[in-house]
Amino acid sequence: MRRETAQTKTARLKIIAALDRAYPEAHCELAHADPLQLLVATILSAQCTDKRVNIVTKELFKKYRSAADYANASLAELEQAVKTTGFFRNKAKNIQACCRKLVEHHGDKVPRTMEELTQLDGVGRKTANVVLGNAFGINIGVVVDTHVARLSQRLGLTKQHDPVKIEQDLMALVPQNQWTLFSHWLIWHGRRRCAARKPDCPGCEISKHCPRIGVKNAGIASNLER
Ligand code: SF4
Repeated sequence: MRRETAQTKTARLKIIAALDRAYPEAHCELAHADPLQLLVATILSAQCTDKRVNIVTKELFKKYRSAADYANASLAELEQAVKTTGFFRNKAKNIQACCRKLVEHHGDKVPRTMEELTQLDGVGRKTANVVLGNAFGINIGVVVDTHVARLSQRLGLTKQHDPVKIEQDLMALVPQNQWTLFSHWLIWHGRRRCAARKPDCPGCEISKHCPRIGVKNAGIASNLER
């Protein structure tokens, strides 16, 4: 696990404060009205944009309203309903198998623990963290997606590449009551400012606190692109 010097601790606290100021409205961008909808949307979001998932779930959630609805659905129909999110056969199969377990073992409800959630088909630690943090307000871990991984490295918060190790570093550095929010801040910043190939360092709200680890000529590239 990463050890902090007093200097890096100060820098890290400034990064957190600056992200909070930049994105006070940050939230989960997957549309959902209850834990089951968020669980299904998060499974669908693998290798797919939230925007596309939200288009698909707008109709999906009208047709399938409970875990039992997914459990008893025609798999072929479910596949068609989620087709445009990609990897649709696997996603439909996982959603159905996951919902059958919800019906059989959890009274049709989404469980509230990491252990129970990660027993469900198609649910890894990341998906479980999304559901626990956003549907139940439980900060049990930090969601590490591609944006969180990239930003954490650029900001010098981790040297790791494995999501589980990145999460361990972030859990040691960020106050637990901010774990869910922190991943939203990084995801929002990654989408709006610090893109993988073209980080907008000159326009960046947290640039004075960012060591830009691994970012080469970001300012020059960004200026040329404007
Ligand atoms: S300064 Fe550049 S690399 Fe650092 S967070 Fe901002 S956009 Fe990303």
